[in-house]
Amino acid sequence: MDDIAPRIGLMIILIRLAIAVFIGWWLFKLARRVLAGAAKSFSGFDKGRSAEVADMVQDPVCGSYISLNHALALKRDGKTIYFCSEKCQNKFINS
Ligand SMILES: [Zn+2]
Repeated sequence: MDDIAPRIGLMIILIRLAIAVFIGWWLFKLARRVLAGAAKSFSGFDKGRSAEVADMVQDPVCGSYISLNHALALKRDGKTIYFCSEKCQNKFINS
């Protein structure tokens, strides 16, 4: 029994060390993810780009995608339809 006790003590130390390493690695990963997320939200370029992608609308006439800020809006049947140009808008109205 006296021979086994020190080994168990060593095993416990090793297990604790393994847990500590695992927690440290996990915290490191978590911190990196948090920092990456913070860097992304602080970057104006990334934010602007994702907002632009979210505001893209499709022209039903030519099928091209236009940013909502640059699209021509037409209200019809309670719906707003967006066009890339007056040419497409007129084509839609006359069709
Ligand atoms: Zn068009």
